[in-house]
Amino acid sequence: MKIKCPDCPGPAELSDDFNSVKCSKCSLDMTYGEYVRYIAYKDAKYRDILSDYKP
Ligand SMILES: [Zn+2]
Repeated sequence: MKIKCPDCPGPAELSDDFNSVKCSKCSLDMTYGEYVRYIAYKDAKYRDILSDYKP
């Protein structure tokens, strides 16, 4: 199934057994567990960046 790639605007492919995430555009290749942690980490960073711009 296609899911959001954390590193590029392209779609990443989640394997049917939910064990690996791969993106052919940026050669992302990690386990689903790593992917979830990576997304959470990036989201947290993004929120930190946004909060810097709050008055
Ligand atoms: Zn990608």
